[in-house]
Amino acid sequence: MSPVPADILEKCTNCGACQVPCAFLMRYGTPKEIFTALDPAKQHSLSFECSLCGLCRAVCPESLDPVEAFLALRRDAVNNNQVDLSVYSTILGYEKKGTSALFSCYALPQGCDTIFFPGCTLPGTRPKTTWALFDTLRGMKPDLGIVLDCCTKPSHDLGCETYFQSMFGEMVGFLKAHQIKRVWLACPNCYKVFITYAPTMTVETVYEVMDRTGLPCKFPDGSRPFEDTPLVVHDPCPMRDEVLVQESVRSLLAGMNLSVEKMAFEKKKTLCCGEGGSVGFIDSELARAWTGKREKAAGPNPIVTYCAGCAGFLNRTTPTFHILDLLFFPDKAASGRLRPAKAPLTYFHRLALKRKIKKALPDAVFRERNYRPAE
Ligand code: SF4
Ligand code: SF4
Repeated sequence: MSPVPADILEKCTNCGACQVPCAFLMRYGTPKEIFTALDPAKQHSLSFECSLCGLCRAVCPESLDPVEAFLALRRDAVNNNQVDLSVYSTILGYEKKGTSALFSCYALPQGCDTIFFPGCTLPGTRPKTTWALFDTLRGMKPDLGIVLDCCTKPSHDLGCETYFQSMFGEMVGFLKAHQIKRVWLACPNCYKVFITYAPTMTVETVYEVMDRTGLPCKFPDGSRPFEDTPLVVHDPCPMRDEVLVQESVRSLLAGMNLSVEKMAFEKKKTLCCGEGGSVGFIDSELARAWTGKREKAAGPNPIVTYCAGCAGFLNRTTPTFHILDLLFFPDKAASGRLRPAKAPLTYFHRLALKRKIKKALPDAVFRERNYRPAE
């Protein structure tokens, strides 16, 4: 029996405020219509078409939370073997590699209480940017550690709750046992996982850290590459409620003297880039509908974002920059000469980064992760 979201059944007025901007609800109806009209088996399968982006929660005048209801359905489907997870083998395999002994790398220098956690996609697609960022952060905090591992958000979002809790719990247990109290993150998805499931740690984005420190980054000769067609900022869904992070990103862009315009559906009301909830693995058309909405909102303006995953997805239809590329390699990034790597090169980059870390921090406490939960 599927979990029935009683508050949605009681309080949803079918006002449509969540439905109009949502590619998924436009197809199937308001949350109340979905939960009343469909049988449980259909509800289970539909929940995997929701991007889990949280826009519905952000716009609902009744303060309802459909996204939690769809995630609960996914968990229920997994627990009752009502979903074929083999269709997600690409993303789950990617996650598994990230947590493996081969790709993971914990390097904690003497006295270290803070780590930089770059996630999986940034180091793979942008190894030079990742290293430049780590170097800069180390300049601010010389005993900074670094951890290459996967936060296992794909499993979390696919409803594999027990696996996720076990994997993430083991990671946090290791960090705490080694006196790590603070985590600096570049990836919005990792940030969301740490801030939600590691509440006793101090969790910050590198954008807040760099903005606080006043990073000196200017385009050469005072050039202003986006003066004629200003940038628009795409806020990744996990950052929807993170006002400080949103402002730090905009402040960094202003510090670079870059022209930025407002865009429809930003900040709290931001849109899914198309990658959310792994929807593209079962319905590429629905995922493309989200990307198309963002393309329309951006119009002729290039996009700047702070998620390597969003940058990859949005760049399929609209020129999209990662703010970290612009910060560390301004002229090359702005002119389009700094291209993010694609698989399988991304895996080689991650292994090379691991070698570089070992060389740069020879005296650090080092671990490769070798943990798998019991089935
Ligand atoms: S979480 Fe996003 S995709 Fe899912 S119902 Fe809400 S707005 Fe639509
Ligand atoms: S915005 Fe809230 S009340 Fe309106 S249809 Fe969506 S869930 Fe129902």
